[in-house]
Amino acid sequence: VTREDGGQQPSEGEDEWVGGLLARLPAHRALRVPPGHDCGAVSLGAGAGDGPLVVGTCDVLVDGVHFELARCGAAAAARKAVLVNLSDLAASASVPVAFWAGVVLPRGADHALFAALAEGFADVSREADVACAGGDTNVADGPLTISVTLLGRPGPMGVVTRAGAAPGDVLSVTGALGGSLDASLGGRHLSFTPRVREALALARHSVPHAMMDLSDGLSRDLPRLCRASGVGARVRRDDVPVHPDASRAGGDARSPLERALHDGEDFELLVAHAPLSEDTAAALRAEGVALHEIGRVVGPEEGIRLELPGRATAPLVAKGYDHLRQAARRT
Ligand SMILES: [Mg+2]
Repeated sequence: VTREDGGQQPSEGEDEWVGGLLARLPAHRALRVPPGHDCGAVSLGAGAGDGPLVVGTCDVLVDGVHFELARCGAAAAARKAVLVNLSDLAASASVPVAFWAGVVLPRGADHALFAALAEGFADVSREADVACAGGDTNVADGPLTISVTLLGRPGPMGVVTRAGAAPGDVLSVTGALGGSLDASLGGRHLSFTPRVREALALARHSVPHAMMDLSDGLSRDLPRLCRASGVGARVRRDDVPVHPDASRAGGDARSPLERALHDGEDFELLVAHAPLSEDTAAALRAEGVALHEIGRVVGPEEGIRLELPGRATAPLVAKGYDHLRQAARRT
């Protein structure tokens, strides 16, 4: 298989692998939101269709892929492992309650590493007001690996998913994009504020039709929301908010806009919603929630395209982060 970056690649990307896995999983009466969204949801009732819902998400972070232990330290890595889960829970407009952490320590790790991990988990537990409810530790010949599972309860709109966007909806993001991964700029991806508060405010005003967090870059994540909703999208190139880090980031010659479109780990929310009324817009502003309108939802036959100045459009080609391809590139 020929890829733009050549070399030995898995023949499929992360979405195809995950899709193949999900297709093998049986349906279950407890499932209310099946796998494939930012969060799943299950009913705690004994029978079908009853009982309270619990919303959950799980992320695995690996040294050398999602953080550089030697550079950031274990406390920051532990914090990030919880923050990324909080971001996924925010995408469902749910209320985080508790997390469980599984840690695989590199063989020979000293006690200081373990203490720093505990400090990171404790810090984020206090900051985000979520309980650390347990976990597990193991030792293996490999990089530090942290798996966090976060549970919560549905917010004012229930569990918002990636499905539900319809043609005519507006597409918005909650903040500026790009440059998050540049370590020389402090690595915003390590220490960001998950948009939990903003998501719940949006839900209180019944705003989101569909939502996800931008973890792998707008150009890779927007198609996921479109696929789940069965729609296409138009993104107005000049309305994409570009983070100052995207202009300062080094390492290659990409433009700030390219970084905003394709970098991963911004952890802003991508929201599909009806055009906002004056009242709702004012209420959100009063609550300190910024929604930057970047485009609109169109029919699936129109694909996913960038609107350029004038009347030209260009396909929005995914160049965001794909962990499987990234891992293959490293070997
Ligand atoms: Mg997500």
